[in-house]
This record gives sequence, C-alpha cells and structure tokens, in this order.
Amino acid sequence: MIIILCAPSGSGKSTMVKHLLETYPGQYELSISATTRAPRGQEQHGKEYYFISREEFEQHIANQDFIEYEQVYEGLYYGTLKSEIERIQNAGRTIVFDIDVKGGLNLKRIFGDEALAIFIAPPSVEELSRRLHGRGDTSEDMIQKRLAKAEIEMADAPYFDKIVVNDDLAKAKNELDKLIQFTIWQCTIYNWCTILLFDNLLHSNMTKDELKERFRQFSLRIIKLVNNMPNTIAGN
Ligand code: ADP
Ligand code: 5GP
Repeated sequence: MIIILCAPSGSGKSTMVKHLLETYPGQYELSISATTRAPRGQEQHGKEYYFISREEFEQHIANQDFIEYEQVYEGLYYGTLKSEIERIQNAGRTIVFDIDVKGGLNLKRIFGDEALAIFIAPPSVEELSRRLHGRGDTSEDMIQKRLAKAEIEMADAPYFDKIVVNDDLAKAKNELDKLIQFTIWQCTIYNWCTILLFDNLLHSNMTKDELKERFRQFSLRIIKLVNNMPNTIAGN
C-alpha cells in the first residue's frame, strides 16, 4: 500500500510523517524527493531530500527518471525518482509520500486503489501563518508565497480520499493512525477473500461465465460488508 500525505506548507505534514515513522518502525518508509532548493537548518542530503543542482534535476527530467515532478515554488523543483519507489518496495515497506497537492493528486491517479491519499488541513489560514512564522526557518518572502499557494491548495482538498484537520495534534495523529490501519485492514480482507474465492472456484466444475458471475456477486457482498462497518472501526 502507498500513503500520500499532502497539505499546504506549514499544516503539519512533516510532523505527521515523523509520527508515523517513529510510532511504527520498520512498517513505513518516507519517499525522499529530489529538490533544487537549498537545505534548511539541520537538513541533510539523503535524509530529508536529495539536494541536487538545477542542471542535475533537468538531466533526470530528460532521462525520464521521475514518476512526477513539479516546480512547486517559482524556480524550485521537487520530484520523486522512480528508483526511490523501487528501493522502498523492494524493502517490503509501505511508502509514505510527503508531497505537494498537485503532485499528490498525480500520484493518486497513477496508483489508484493501491494508494490512500490524505489531505492534512490546517484549522485556518491564520493558524497556518502562525505555524510558518513559529518554525522560524523560512524567509518572510517565502512565507507569503506559501500562504498564497495554501489558499489555492485548500480548494483541492475534496479530491482526496480523506481529510484530516490538524488542529489538536494528538487528536490528528490518532485520526491518521486509525484511518491508515483501517485501510490496511480493509485491503487485507479483500486480498484474503479473493484468494479464498479463487481457491474454491478453481476446484469446482463451473464454466468461465459462471465463475465470473460468482466472483462479481461475491465482490459486491464484500463491498457492502465493508461499507456497513461501524464508523468507530473506520475512525471517522
Ligand atoms: P509542513 O511539513 O506541513 O510544512 P510542519 O510539520 O513542519 O509542517 O509543521 C509546521 C510547524 O507547525 C512546526 O513548527 C510544527 O511543530 C507545528 N505544528 C504542527 N502541528 C501542529 C499543531 N497541531 N498545533 C500546533 N503546532 C503544530
Ligand atoms: P519544503 O520546501 O517545505 O520542504 O517543501 C515544499 C513543498 O514541496 C511541500 O509541500 C512538499 O510536500 C512538496 N514536495 C516535496 N517533495 C515533493 C515531490 O517530490 N514532488 C512534489 N510535487 N512536491 C514535493
């Protein structure tokens, strides 16, 4: 499974990613993007980002090495290398993307049902501004650019699978955990049921069309079952 976390800058995406990685060690791995922006504070090459030059980034574009990339802010490129996805999938871990809204929706289109796309929303633009100023690692000019972009990004929130409002941090973390665990559980049920059904059907004397119809009906029953689960399990 793939988890896509998107939010306007300053909403608390990095805080959420850190929470997932620390609370479930070995289960999730962050996809490290390449960027042409300079490292901030204690950021290190290969940890927060692959910090590369504009020339190197453009060479990767020419080689079609990116699954997606954006000029997130004027003159600053950010992109996900295909090799990064392979690296995490080969390690058998769930990939977590911390990516801008446009890039996140592009990835959702590519991965479809394999991905859970979550929008982390700030409680308000005023609070977003407070958090960006409070972080103290971005120039005033960049903060204003991020706030202007945030208003546009908020309009895309309904296109995500789920929205988590990051007001009270503990509550937001808990909501995110439940949401992800529920989706993993849902996928596991689907996979097990499919295996069980095929195993049963392969040992029967049904025709191909009968098999198809039986599978369709079975899938519909599973979907109904999952949709009718109590909200407390779904964490909503
Ligand atoms: P992003 O990765 O989306 O840019 P960060 O995770 O860096 O955002 O969070 C921005 C700032 O807001 C950080 O200083 C972080 O500690 C703070 N923050 C995150 N979530 C909350 C919250 N629920 N309440 C108050 N401050 C928060
Ligand atoms: P920052 O400069 O604050 O680290 O990140 C700026 C924005 O770029 C954030 O919204 C972040 O999620 C986004 N971003 C980081 N990596 C990628 C990426 O690979 N692709 C895209 N489209 N956006 C990214």
